[in-house]
Amino acid sequence: MDKITSIFGANVFNDEVMRSMLPDDIYKSLRNTMDNGIPLQEDVAKVVANAMKDWAIQKGATHYTHWFQPMTGITAEKHDSFLTPTKDGKCIMEFSGKELVKGEPDASSFPSGGIRATFEARGYTSWDPTSYAFIKDGSLCIPTAFCSYSGEALDKKTPLLRSMEAINTQALRVLKLFKNNEGVKRVTSTVGPEQEYFLIDKNIFNKRKDLVYTGRTLFGAKPPKGQELDDHYFGSLKPRVSAFMKELDEELWKLGIYAKTKHNEVAPAQHELAPVFTTTNVATDHNQLTMEIMKTVARKHDLACILHEKPFANLNGSGKHNNWSLSTDTGVNLLEPGKSPYENAQFILFLVAVIKAVDENQDLLRISVASAGNDHRLGSNEAPPAIISIFLGEELEEILESIETGNKYKAKEKSRMELGVTTLPKFTRDSTDRNRTSPFAFTGNKFEFRMPGSTLSVAGPNIVINTIVAESLRQFADILEKAENFDEELNKLVVSTYKKHKRIIYNGNNYSKEWVEEAEKRGLLNLVSSADSIPLFTSKKNVELFARHKVFSEKEIISRTEILLENYCKTINIEALTMNRIVKKDIFPAVNLYMRETCKNVESKKAFSAELNTSVEEKIITRLNELNMKLINDVYKLEKTLKKAEEITDYKKKATFFRNQVYTAMEKMRSYADEMELFVGRNYWPFPTYGDLLSSVN
Ligand code: ADP
Ligand code: MG
Repeated sequence: MDKITSIFGANVFNDEVMRSMLPDDIYKSLRNTMDNGIPLQEDVAKVVANAMKDWAIQKGATHYTHWFQPMTGITAEKHDSFLTPTKDGKCIMEFSGKELVKGEPDASSFPSGGIRATFEARGYTSWDPTSYAFIKDGSLCIPTAFCSYSGEALDKKTPLLRSMEAINTQALRVLKLFKNNEGVKRVTSTVGPEQEYFLIDKNIFNKRKDLVYTGRTLFGAKPPKGQELDDHYFGSLKPRVSAFMKELDEELWKLGIYAKTKHNEVAPAQHELAPVFTTTNVATDHNQLTMEIMKTVARKHDLACILHEKPFANLNGSGKHNNWSLSTDTGVNLLEPGKSPYENAQFILFLVAVIKAVDENQDLLRISVASAGNDHRLGSNEAPPAIISIFLGEELEEILESIETGNKYKAKEKSRMELGVTTLPKFTRDSTDRNRTSPFAFTGNKFEFRMPGSTLSVAGPNIVINTIVAESLRQFADILEKAENFDEELNKLVVSTYKKHKRIIYNGNNYSKEWVEEAEKRGLLNLVSSADSIPLFTSKKNVELFARHKVFSEKEIISRTEILLENYCKTINIEALTMNRIVKKDIFPAVNLYMRETCKNVESKKAFSAELNTSVEEKIITRLNELNMKLINDVYKLEKTLKKAEEITDYKKKATFFRNQVYTAMEKMRSYADEMELFVGRNYWPFPTYGDLLSSVN
């Protein structure tokens, strides 16, 4: 057997293992739970748990954990051993059905946005049987959802599963109306998240307290060579990087993760990993695991893996392209243009459902990617701007125009587009045709949402995409189910939807200034910062939308808004404190030392001969003194500003304050330090420069 197939899924309690370890009737009933969401019976859970335990022990595991995804955005685990004492003072290894199905992690310190008072501490985890259990670090990990006893979601997985239910329900309603969908019982959203990251030598990384504490550099002058030459992009892999990637692939394969593509990215020291797409909740679990394993494997190679969205100013940040589509249990991709007229009409209907959803919910898409870190990326030159638009490609746009106007489609066929009657003209799915600047691009048979930042859990964006598209489909189904003449009503619906929402389509360069102006004319939202966007989460439209599809209750939305805002404030607060500490402890003293040496140099030159020119030294000293004084004064000012921030209790106001007062002050401070870095001698500067960091891995 080849290497990949022999190790793939070795640490996963997957279908093959289940089939071989479970009695037939138990296997069937578990499969029924997994495929059709039928609740698991207690007697079945008991047998499954026992088989899981035996399998895990065989693989060397001693503990189990309910593995969940609280609102911190990372995963959480608390390990219990299988050990159960016996009367004779010995022990046996046990794992009950109850322990498999439900856990009480007493995880009272996770953010709940006021839903669960800490003293209650009553959150429980329940198994998500659609995502396989696996072994990591000697523990059997059971993917779970995390809820409060009153049923509110305290995690990212619960609403994700609910949103998948919502889109399943509405998509099935629509599919029923077309002739070609017999046998379709379930529609799932599929996701393939492309993950970008940086690799830096661990020793050099550790010398940068800003990277260690905040994940990004708070200081650093632009290096002479950045990414201008594009010579890193798709370049050959350096041996250390290659060794890291090889081990990473293997570790991921063992966990049943379809790691597929790896390459160097645009910025120096930046790389990417893309998996083969899969069901959304599994893709989300896998992406969380991928990020974790990236960090662990990096440490083994004396590397630091940076997942921050913008670790280095003036260089590309890291994103996580969220490729999204819908697939039936009969294997049809609903965003794949079909061969027959009916398949095509159906494709166009789903396409306009997405167009409508995105136009009507620009706010939600922006909120779904909001974080202090991602704010540095959106609108910078490598990431899409904070304005949401859709790229369709010229040909597809022409097709829709032709349907709308009834005019002839311009391309080769020169035929009139009539839904459900004519076959769609073939349009090219050429990658050169893709618009890399678009935040939401149709790429032939899926949409690629490019705004998520590299650290983000993809749960959030997909909760939003699933729900907003479910809402379009719900409205479509309401109309079409009542139609007397289906073809006519369908055509009318596509035309009116496209007409109303085509303002969201933009095939041009999203990074240009003209687009910002044009978007404003079109009335599109431009929510530049997280502080501007997050508060919109609680609007009437959004509360109604999520409640209708049973994805979030109003209480859950309010709590999540608070968590997001709180997180935003805390992140900037930590950055500001780190910055102050670095200035006081490192930069200010280092610059003084260098100035003293330079002053001494002036003195000794003068002592040697009054004729010697010291004008350059004098200029440098004067400028350094000016900048260093400004910098230290700003530190004291910033300390006062942070005190003021502490007093603000309203999170919306607090976030705006952090954005307008704290963050702006930090940017100014950085500029003083970065200018000084260029004057101060290498041996005096207190930490590695951008150049040192970015060329640290060979
Ligand atoms: P590109 O040319 O942009 O690299 P790929 O086809 O390789 O495009 O896809 C990039 C990512 O999109 C991969 O993770 C891939 O698995 C994912 N992807 C492909 N098809 C789908 C789909 N139907 N649904 C979700 N993700 C998909
Ligand atoms: Mg891509």
